Amino acid sequence: VSDNRTALITGANKGIGFAIAQGLGAIGFTVAVGARDDGRRAEAVERLRANGIDAFGVALDVTSDDSAIAAAKTIEQTTGRLDVLVNNAGIAGRTDGGAQNASTLDLDVLRTVLDTNVFGIVRVTNAMLPLLRGAESPRIVNVSSNMGSLALQTGPPLAAYAPSKSMLNSITAQYARDLADTDVIVNAACPGYVATDFTGFAAPRTAEQGAAIVLRLATLPEDGPRGGFFDDEGVVPW
Ligand code: NDP
Repeated sequence: VSDNRTALITGANKGIGFAIAQGLGAIGFTVAVGARDDGRRAEAVERLRANGIDAFGVALDVTSDDSAIAAAKTIEQTTGRLDVLVNNAGIAGRTDGGAQNASTLDLDVLRTVLDTNVFGIVRVTNAMLPLLRGAESPRIVNVSSNMGSLALQTGPPLAAYAPSKSMLNSITAQYARDLADTDVIVNAACPGYVATDFTGFAAPRTAEQGAAIVLRLATLPEDGPRGGFFDDEGVVPW
């Protein structure tokens, strides 16, 4: 078992996920780079190593049960421990580059978005929990969005994406209930509006700025909040 704390980030090959990997690596974590594409994963691992980060690749498609189970085995065999899980991988499910209107929503789009943004989190979390339970200060951070906030109702109509993040916040609260008697602290984060492929790079915040709240929640003290939804400003109503 490695002496270094290990963090798995899903969808770590680019965007906010890559910045989270870089940020956790910079404070001493060994970074497990979860990514579904072999080439993109290898390139991200190489870039992190070039930046002085201790990183290794983990093949992980969050829509596959087998992939999630295999990913847990890879981590067990590589560092023998998992201290932090960041469920970052997510898709908007835009089919035409624009909005998703509820009245014309393609059910296959809804299924794919839910499979990635909601079922994917449950799939990966449940595959990783046996490892996390053995850690000293285990933390799980689910990357959500204030577009999922029923209280704020922000952003354009994305009839599959926004509800997927509402459900993610709700599932985060369910995990917190289930894990209340354990050391595992689970929260959800909103990175803000960040310039990545996801937004066509037309957004004001950098990936590093988006990653900051995730890094905070991934390193919460023992008495930190559980089951909440936070951004840089604090609690986000949802
Ligand atoms: P990007 O599109 O830049 O990155 C998304 C990442 O998720 C990629 O690494 C992608 O991999 C990965 N991914 C998608 N589907 C799967 C899958 N089935 N299995 C494994 N990995 C997958 O987006 P961002 O970095 O902007 O978004 C990251 C998270 O932040 C998402 O959950 C998003 O909802 C959330 N968010 C983003 C905001 C923003 O303004 N950008 C605002 C609020 C929330 P691949 O390269 O293979 O496609």
